[in-house]
This record gives sequence, structure tokens and C-alpha cells, in this order.
Amino acid sequence: MSIQERDKKHLWHPLTQHKLHPEAIAITKAKDCMLYDENGNEYIDAIASWYTCMYGHCNEFITNRVHQQMQQLDQVVFSGFTHEPAVKLSEELIKILPKNQNKLFFSDNGSTCVEIGIKMALQYHFNKGDKRNTLIAFEDGFHGDTFGAMSVSSLSVYNGPFEDFFLDVKRIPTPNGHNHHAVLEMLADIVKTNKVAGFVYEPLVQGAAAMKMHDATGLDLILQFCKEHDIITVADEVMTGFGKTGKHFASLHMNTKPDIMCLSKALTAGLLPMAITSCSQHIYDGFYSDDISKGLFHGHTYSANPLACSAALAGLELLQSSKIQDNIKCIIASHQEFGNHIKTHPKVKSTRQTGVVFALDLNVEMSRYGNLRDKLFSFFMKHGVFLRPLGNTIYIQAPYIIAKEQLEKVYQVIEDALEIV
Ligand SMILES: *Cc1c(COP(=O)(O)O)cnc(C)c1O
Repeated sequence: MSIQERDKKHLWHPLTQHKLHPEAIAITKAKDCMLYDENGNEYIDAIASWYTCMYGHCNEFITNRVHQQMQQLDQVVFSGFTHEPAVKLSEELIKILPKNQNKLFFSDNGSTCVEIGIKMALQYHFNKGDKRNTLIAFEDGFHGDTFGAMSVSSLSVYNGPFEDFFLDVKRIPTPNGHNHHAVLEMLADIVKTNKVAGFVYEPLVQGAAAMKMHDATGLDLILQFCKEHDIITVADEVMTGFGKTGKHFASLHMNTKPDIMCLSKALTAGLLPMAITSCSQHIYDGFYSDDISKGLFHGHTYSANPLACSAALAGLELLQSSKIQDNIKCIIASHQEFGNHIKTHPKVKSTRQTGVVFALDLNVEMSRYGNLRDKLFSFFMKHGVFLRPLGNTIYIQAPYIIAKEQLEKVYQVIEDALEIV
């Protein structure tokens, strides 16, 4: 029996209505930019498996490092113990994070690092005797699938059963270059009638909202407003971190730095699950006390797993290499060229790009998980490219090591797909 058939017996997949989508493609091997399935088909991974393996699949530089670490120290409790990979990772990561970031708190995935960011913001005020119970977030944000992260997200079509249990969140539109004044007025109104603890946001690019992009100047104004009102700013860089926007972090495009940052996905180069919530000394000091209850009583069994830390360290080294930095520049230029070429196509409504993230909107109405979306997905896969359209948006976020010919093929398949919509 094929893996695909055996899968159906016991497995329940994420984000899947199994009655409508019973088939999962069985991948048996991955290398560099390619995925290989059990039927001998191969696909260019043009979204880097949800923007994680940016240095390519099964990258030997990274797998060798993890293999070495595996023979030295596999796992140990991180409460009361520490180890070289975590310490080294803190030293290396702090060097490239925005200057105000000074402490790292480990967890396992994007949702949990946001959850921790939210808890830090709430408890920071609580510890000062200033209990605040409202959060601010952008419309159309996505921050993960645990309760706190779901609450600040607003792609809520599928959140119906849980909404009654959400945190108190007020929403503001993303800055579009024309609405700065209106957004600041909304913020002023919100703080008049609410005690706001924090602002949780995806800086510059909202990934799951189909790569919706916004304006850095406007975001800077919002961050300044937050600073003036002692509202803790929590930048969710789970998607935008590690080079996606052309800089190491999207937050480096703004003058006002976030108090807290959430990192995962490309953090471990797609090899192992791990996440980090980083914060400024100022936030950390809000928990530092003779009173034990003022500490952050949150922890995960696999916090700072040494293998995941060693994968992250190898990834950081690659990110800062001149080869990867040059590749990033080439991909940016190449996307610009493709954007200019495709934007006049009658089936294309608009194109947009921030760093290596490229997106185009089709000139048709379609639902996020509807028929046309399925048709496009099948077309891409049939032609050997893994792309995952979101609503009427097709986006590319390929590994940094993608070859020129592979990228050309991705563009061509997208252009060909426009004929079937
Ligand atoms: C993917 C993502 C998350 C959630 O991460 P998981 O590891 O899937 O829980 C949170 N925020 C952003 C911006 C993301 O892209």
C-alpha cells in the first residue's frame, strides 16, 4: 500500500477538512530546493515549506552541525540548567537583533513564542501594580493557533467555536500611506477607554493574510504612539525574520524598536522546531524581583533543546555569509523584473514585493480554500512547482539558494497558470 493510502487510516492533518481533501501527497525525500514524492514526481519548493528552510532542504552544513551536537548533548531541562548551544545562540542572535533586544526566552513554535510575548506584556504591567487587560492588533493579522495567538489574529473565519473565550483585543487598520492620521486617532480613542497592555503586530508583511504589505513610516508612528503610552510593542517576526525583508529583521526598517520580538520558522533553518521570544532589558527588569511570583512562570519541556539551538547557530552563520546575502539581492532584483513583466497581464490585479517576498493578486474573486484555489494548486504541482495560493493571491518565498533556472521555472508556471483562471 502507498504511504498516501496508509496515511488515511490514522492521521488527522492540520488545516484540513478531510471529507473535502482526503489525499495527502507523500514526500519521501527533500534536497536543496526540491521535494520528491513517492510516485517519482519532483517539485520546486517555492514557499520554502512555509518559509522555514531558507538555506535549502537537508543542507549538509546544518545537518553536520546537528549531528555533532547529537553525539555530545541531546536534551536537558532548561530550568536550572544551561548549555553551550543556547549560550552561544544568545550571543550570536543578540548581535544581529535590533540594538535594544537583550534577553531571550525559548519555546517550541511560532504560536507559543507569541503566547509568551503576550504574557510578558500583560505581566509586565501587572507586576507594576498597573493591571491592564486590553491588547491592540492589526486587522487581518495572523499570530498562530493557540488561544492567545488566535485572539490577536483576525483571520477568524475558522475561529467560530472559540471566539467567546478570546482575550480583549481592539483592532486597527494597517498603515497604507494615506491613513496615518486616522489610525493615530483610533489609537487615541482606544487608550481613552481601555487599559492597553500591548500591541501585537507583524511588521511590514502579514504572511497568512496573503502577504499583505504595509508602510514602514506609518508603522513607526504607531510604535512611537505605543512608546508614549507605555504600551508594550510585540513584533511577530515569525515569518519576516532572518532576511525575508532584505534586512535580517523587518523591525530594522523602523526607527522605533519593538520591546519584544517573536522568532521561529527560519530560526532553525527548517530542521527542527524551536522559537524564541526576545525582549529589551527594560521588560526583563519588570520581572526581576525578590518576590518569586513576579518571575515569568512559563516553560516548555523542550525549551532551548541543544539540537535545535545548534541548527539555529548554523543557520545564523549561513544567513550572514556573503553568498546568502548576495543571493538575497539577486532574488530581490529578479522578483522586481518579474513583477514589472507580469503586472500588466489582464488576469493580474496587482503585484507587491518586500524583500524576497513576492505576491500577485488575481483579477478574480475566489475563496481562501475554494475550488479555483484547488485548481491552481493542482496546476502548479502538475508542473513541478509547490506553490500554495491564498485566496486570489499567489506568492513566492523560495529558499535563498534557489538557482536562477529554478526561479525562472516558478515564474513561467505562474504565468502559464494565469491562462486557466
Ligand atoms: C506561522 C506563523 C505563526 C505561527 O507559527 P507556528 O509555528 O505555525 O505555530 C505566528 N506568526 C506568524 C507571523 C507566522 O507566520
